[in-house]
Amino acid sequence: MSTISLHDLTFAETEQRLADDGLARHHARALWRALHRQSELDLAARRDLSPPLRRWLDAHLHQDVTLDAPTINAKIDSSDERTRKLLLRLDDGQEIETVVMGYPGRFTACLSTQAGCAMGCVFCATGQMGFVRHLRPGEIVAQVLHAQRLLHSMGEPGLRNLVLMGMGEPLHNYDAVMKALGIITDDRGVNLGPAKISVSTVGVVPGILRMAEEQCPYNLAVSLHAATDEERSALVPSNRRWPLADLMAACRTYGEKTGRRIFFGWTLIEGRNDSPAHARRVAELLQGLDAHVNLIPLNPTQGYSGRTTGEAVVEEFQSILQDAGFPSTIRQRRGIDVAAGCGQLRASKAKRQSEALE
Ligand code: SAH
Ligand code: SF4
Repeated sequence: MSTISLHDLTFAETEQRLADDGLARHHARALWRALHRQSELDLAARRDLSPPLRRWLDAHLHQDVTLDAPTINAKIDSSDERTRKLLLRLDDGQEIETVVMGYPGRFTACLSTQAGCAMGCVFCATGQMGFVRHLRPGEIVAQVLHAQRLLHSMGEPGLRNLVLMGMGEPLHNYDAVMKALGIITDDRGVNLGPAKISVSTVGVVPGILRMAEEQCPYNLAVSLHAATDEERSALVPSNRRWPLADLMAACRTYGEKTGRRIFFGWTLIEGRNDSPAHARRVAELLQGLDAHVNLIPLNPTQGYSGRTTGEAVVEEFQSILQDAGFPSTIRQRRGIDVAAGCGQLRASKAKRQSEALE
């Protein structure tokens, strides 16, 4: 018997699934309200659902229909009380991270799109782990629902923004990511505006071109980190497959086709990519593009000896970009005390476990 997860289904697919069992289509709205609007994980306990829907749930739930209800393995509050990190354990035992950060009334969730990552960026804890598997759409949707549940338990109205900057490369898992975002933005469910969502990529060129072609309504962030192929390939191995000329051409096509600004990410590593000359090269590379640069001082990881750039150097880098006409933001390494860098909670937990075995 094949099972499906309700979190994997679009609204139309939910209607169809219910219709296949003889239920009128309007039941899909009630099911979605409980599932996506109220982030309900215990549907069987919902006495307010209509009798036909409850009978259907009784017959199918945990039989041929399941939910993505990952177990929460760790929930660590950072001392600034603005960052909370969920380590979610999936059905097959894989663990992924979801980070919720922000201020009252405006929280952002940072979602994972894969367990591990195939791209191998040297400074990234997820890259150091290697690729494990793609996440299904439901496993991406469920992270949003967990974040919503957490915020509601804090008396917060819910998420304001979503960034796909957790574990994994979203455009390497294109179909599942776009399906999940379609579900999350559906006004019968979570109903988050597409303009509130950012997809961050290391530079998977075919994915960027597909987003342009399909006029995807989400923000695009491109993690650059270096402005020459030699330097970039040393930090980001996938640059050998999609070199800078191809990446920048894809960004220009994206800009022309969508009319959207692109957000470029630059992880600053001391002595590696943080000099004034580097800043000038970034400005040259981005010439003519509607671009915003996010400067992220390196979050140190176990598997990489690089050090983080000091504040004064970051500010000088920023002022060179500013003089060249590019707006930029210095991103704080939020929650560094809870190891909230990409993939780091999972990595540090694995280390603690292996230490415990010794
Ligand atoms: N794979 C996608 C999205 C996940 S990584 C991408 O690479 O864009 C999200 C962001 O975190 C990327 O910009 C990445 O460069 C950055 N990042 C990863 N490890 C980091 C670290 N140790 N310190 C600072 N930024 C890091
Ligand atoms: Fe993958 Fe992004 Fe980490 Fe690079 S920075 S290894 S693309 S998750």
